This record gives sequence, C-alpha cells and structure tokens, in this order.
Amino acid sequence: MTIQLKSLHFSMNALEPIVSAKTFEFHYGKHYATYVNNTNDLIANTPMQDMDLVSIIRHCSGKEEFQSLFNNAAQVFNHEFFWNSLTDKAENKIIPDVLAEHIVRDFGSYEAFETTLLQTAVKQFGSGWAWLISDNGVLKVVSTSNAMLPMGQGIKPLLCIDVWEHAYYLDYQNRRADFVKAVMGVLNWQFAWENYNKGE
Ligand code: MN
Repeated sequence: MTIQLKSLHFSMNALEPIVSAKTFEFHYGKHYATYVNNTNDLIANTPMQDMDLVSIIRHCSGKEEFQSLFNNAAQVFNHEFFWNSLTDKAENKIIPDVLAEHIVRDFGSYEAFETTLLQTAVKQFGSGWAWLISDNGVLKVVSTSNAMLPMGQGIKPLLCIDVWEHAYYLDYQNRRADFVKAVMGVLNWQFAWENYNKGE
C-alpha cells in the first residue's frame, strides 16, 4: 500500500478570493504533495508500508526514531482534514441544528465560538493548526504545533484551519487573523457533522 494523494473536492479557484488558486497550487500541489511523497519514501520496505495513514501516525507518535515519519504522515492527515474542512457549496456551510445548539451550549453563543477560534488561531506561536474538537462530547477549540493533531481517548477533530504561513502568505502576507476570519465563512459544517457523529 502506498499513501495516495487525495483529490480536492473543489477546483483550485473555487474559494477565491478567500483562498486563491495560486495558494492551492503551492499548498496542495507542492507542500501537501511533498508530505505524501516523503511519507511513502519513509515507509518503503518497512513493516509500515502496508499500514493505513492513521495507523502509521499512531505507530510513530511520541517515538523519537520515527519523528520525521510522524511529521510527514501527520501533515498528510492534517492537510486532507483541512481540504475537507473547506467548501464552496452553500448547503455545506449551514450548521446542522443539533451542532448549532451544542456550539451555544459549550461556547455560550456562535459569536463566542468564532472569537475563540480566531484568538486560538492567532495565538498559536509559529506553525500549527486550530481545531474544533469534540472532547468526549464537549465542543472545544484547541491549537496544535507543527504537525501535531488532537488525539486521545474520546477526542474527535471536527474541523481544522491550517495556520502555517504557507497557508496564507501569498494572499494575506502576515495577516493571519484576516485569513482565519475569511476562512470561517467557508467552513464545511457538513463535514464537521459527519465527524461529530462518527464512532470512536
Ligand atoms: Mn499547510
């Protein structure tokens, strides 16, 4: 088995001007593709060559000798999760009623959720990710550094935003907050809902 490059489910210019085709050409075509290629190079001729992506990540997590493979495999997962967290379809941008109620239950209001997500994304020092997660049924916003992702008993990622500079620099230069605010308008809440309802 090799790790396959996954297709985007929208065209590279579908999210303009929020994310430009030029950004996708580099972010998807170069950065993401490199993580996929590096992962395949690092698993070749090892027992991990027959594992799926999540199994590779779990196997390598926290092990110094597999740090490089963990970083690349986790970045493949994170980027595919990010592509799926974005949508150009109006129906996917609607928050399902139960999820909307749970956002109010756990953050106080939708506006408070947006503020928390924005602040968390902006405060992440250096490269990383901002996530909406379910922590044993409670909705939370967390950030992770570099290639790290939210993992653990009862933790399910629902949506993520890439806050590495390569995600926004061509379109927003240093203005990470403007990028995050804009991307919050094209989040795929249907994807979040599917993740929320997934079993452990
Ligand atoms: Mn990225």
